[in-house]
Amino acid sequence: MKKNGQIEVDSQNIFPIIKKWLYSDKDIFLREIVSNACDAISKLAHLNLMGELDKEPDKARIDIRVNKDEKTLIVSDNGIGMTAAEVEDYITKIAFSGAADFIEKYKDKTDGDCGIIGHFGLGFYSVFMVSDKVEIETLSYQNNEKPVHWTSDGSYTYEIEDGQRTQAGTSIILHINDESAEFLDENKIRQMLNKYCQFMPYEIYLNSEGKDDEKPVNNTNPLWLKAPKDCTKQEYEDFYREIFTDFNAPLFWIHLNVDFPFRLKGILYFPKQSNRVEVMPGQVKLYNNQVYIADNIKEVIPEFLMLLKGVIDCPDLPLNVSRSFLQNDRDVQKISKHITKKVSDKLHSIFKQNREDFEKYWEDIAPFIKFGCIKEENFYDRVKDIILLKTINGQYETLQEFKDENNGKFFYVTDENLQSQYIDIFKDNNMNAAVLSHAIDAHFISFLEYKDNEFKFSRIDSSVDEALKSTDSEDESSYENLVQSFKTAIDDDKTTIEAQNLKSKNTPAIIIIPEFERRMKEMGSMYGDMFKNQPVSETLVINTANDIVKKIDTLNEEDKNIVCKYIYNLAKLNNKKLTAEEISEFTKRSTDILQLIFDK
Ligand code: ADP
Repeated sequence: MKKNGQIEVDSQNIFPIIKKWLYSDKDIFLREIVSNACDAISKLAHLNLMGELDKEPDKARIDIRVNKDEKTLIVSDNGIGMTAAEVEDYITKIAFSGAADFIEKYKDKTDGDCGIIGHFGLGFYSVFMVSDKVEIETLSYQNNEKPVHWTSDGSYTYEIEDGQRTQAGTSIILHINDESAEFLDENKIRQMLNKYCQFMPYEIYLNSEGKDDEKPVNNTNPLWLKAPKDCTKQEYEDFYREIFTDFNAPLFWIHLNVDFPFRLKGILYFPKQSNRVEVMPGQVKLYNNQVYIADNIKEVIPEFLMLLKGVIDCPDLPLNVSRSFLQNDRDVQKISKHITKKVSDKLHSIFKQNREDFEKYWEDIAPFIKFGCIKEENFYDRVKDIILLKTINGQYETLQEFKDENNGKFFYVTDENLQSQYIDIFKDNNMNAAVLSHAIDAHFISFLEYKDNEFKFSRIDSSVDEALKSTDSEDESSYENLVQSFKTAIDDDKTTIEAQNLKSKNTPAIIIIPEFERRMKEMGSMYGDMFKNQPVSETLVINTANDIVKKIDTLNEEDKNIVCKYIYNLAKLNNKKLTAEEISEFTKRSTDILQLIFDK
């Protein structure tokens, strides 16, 4: 038997489109043929279970062989195989027309849409992205069927004749084209198998240059398939290391296992954050029946969850669809909601069962939780009662606890070192403040304030709270002189100067910067230069309770000038990082003062 045929494809120009369009995702072809091989094996296993086979099939395996000299890459399986009629139907009709439909549907789509389709591939047809010619050697499992040999160069014609195969199954032989020579490199193929086929359900062996690999490249039984109650801590940690190169063990994890109304399995790990300042991106790998699709597909997985690390296997995902379809698909929305709920349930259960652990994890999970609240308000509604604030005393309190303890006032610090002077004053007065020093905190504060008007945050240096002021009556007539002395010394009309009698005696003066102005300026520098040069009004508050301040009036004009300037510099130093110029001025003044001791 030998027959030539014409592939029935309407669209005359799909081939160049495919080649150009999927160029960047070329290596997907391997996933497509290896997953077809898995399907063929699982069909045979299914027939066996139904009692349809005369004898038990051989142990399932997929063999991949790279031959550099012959420029071939061969993928063989011992699955169900195909008859000649099936090859014509499934390969030339389904695979080719499937590809044509696919292109027809998406060829006018914008680039943005192509990205996601690229992940899902074109099935068998994608082999022509990398091959000049493709052969299929196949033998159907059915008795009395003849082996079949099919060849095509990816144009519209193919050839079909009797084949050589003696064992049921299929081999796909790719004659790799010159531009795709990289796919003749065994290491490259190993990398690709590791990426796309790491958890495929049947053993895959990579063989080359006469030596056969005795260890499969994949783990056919990934942990997410196991019932959560049967998994040990060690297994979860090992599995985490198998997938992610992270030396730190994960903090904890959530094993997702849903059968209804959709199927979903997976494990989400909360990683230890290696960076305490920035939000570190995570990685959530999406699988479809153990076949890797892509990382961080935000249509399926809520964006904030991508700060976690993990795997999600959704067998029910409609994959050959566009991004906008996924976004609007009700099942996909349900999946995303379900995952969000599971994550918040887990956080609640740790909080309830072991608050100490929860507090230990807090610094690592806080960026994730805060980002989640900002991105998804229903996540905020779920977790708002367990959001913690770390206080300047090193304790952790929920928003509600903090609020009750501090009469509804939310003071905070953004830098414990820089703002230590203010922290000392607060501590002297038994007042508390939250430490909100992470990059995400500025956004989180604005979010809380927008969400609920019971929250109003003020940085510790934004005003002198009534509670810090002494209630002792004092002769305020001397204040004017004092303020005047500072005005003369500082000689800068941008700084407002006032005198206050504080309870804390240690500090001679502090700088106060209004919350709103400071935030606007910070926001400006975050989003470009809009408010960068906007001046922020600054008030120097002189503490009349301080012993040095009390004695300023006893000095002669010259010394008074030095002391006032010095106190001002100290207050500035305790509020923000000084410029190079300010530092050298401050250093010079300090040495002048030291000199005074020797001059005495
Ligand atoms: P899909 O897998 O989405 O159906 P493909 O284009 O990848 O589309 O494959 C078309 C069809 O060819 C498959 O549905 C299957 O029936 C058949 N096929 C492909 N590869 C094999 C194989 N290794 N063994 C048996 N049948 C195969």
